[in-house]
Amino acid sequence: MLEKRLWFPLYNGKLLLFGPRLACLAGEDSPLLSGKTQSKDALNGETQGKNTVRTKRDDLRVFAGIAPPVPAAGMLHAVGEYDGMPCVAYAAAHDPDAPDEPQPCDPSSDPEAADLDCVAVSLRAVHAVIGMELYGIAGRGEQMLFWDKRSRHCSVCGGQTELAAPICKRCPACGNEMYPVVTPAVLVLVRRDDRILLVRGREFTRPFFSLVAGFVEPGETLEECVIREVLEETGLTVGNVRYFQSQPWPFPSNLMIGFTVDWVSGELSLQEDELLAGAFYARAELPALPNPFSLARRMIDDWAHGACG
Ligand SMILES: [Zn+2]
Repeated sequence: MLEKRLWFPLYNGKLLLFGPRLACLAGEDSPLLSGKTQSKDALNGETQGKNTVRTKRDDLRVFAGIAPPVPAAGMLHAVGEYDGMPCVAYAAAHDPDAPDEPQPCDPSSDPEAADLDCVAVSLRAVHAVIGMELYGIAGRGEQMLFWDKRSRHCSVCGGQTELAAPICKRCPACGNEMYPVVTPAVLVLVRRDDRILLVRGREFTRPFFSLVAGFVEPGETLEECVIREVLEETGLTVGNVRYFQSQPWPFPSNLMIGFTVDWVSGELSLQEDELLAGAFYARAELPALPNPFSLARRMIDDWAHGACG
């Protein structure tokens, strides 16, 4: 008997969600259909960006069925399990240049999906609809697709690669093996007395403030990276580096690693080509903050509630 799977069709940084009749497929008691959906107001509040699609629907779901709900443009990737169902991610055969509007589905290979409508929701917003666990699986899928697309040819000899294992491609010509690349980056919460340092990066798409962040360089420990990034970006010397938590960040394929540090010396001198603004803030005067699902926000919230470091 063919097994039901949970499908994650992705294109252009968005996950396709289906509704409103998916309730017929998974049953009313499935965890998929209970307690995972926030109100449409919450969704609309999270999706105000050019890469997202607004929806007025209450009943949007990840599709659970035998066959992919929309055609695949490439390989299918196993990306975990949810509620006893294997999860599969793939690049949907949608036009990536299509406007950010809800679109009807392509004819599906699963007849049960054919009558459903689908919408594309940015990965940065979809957690509000499907919950953090499913969002985590979708993010893994996005990172697999990112790798798949960039590993079709060997990085040594240019030959065509073949899949040797679920996360390994091999070049038959020279034997080179290619694995998904995860890029580590640190997030740093700098404490000075009862205040923390918050900065606004030039690349932020919304006017919010977050933690100092930066990529780990070759030959560097995480602790060295933390101290270097804060010094480079703000002119401050920090110490007492403590690990907080980490978070996969599929934009496009990073691992964010959070640290709390204490100010040691120096006054703020912002690196202007990276940062627009920055200051130390007390709990009562926090500015607009990052999305609640981000590690940066968790670190700030933990500090604000007195639990961080
Ligand atoms: Zn090769």
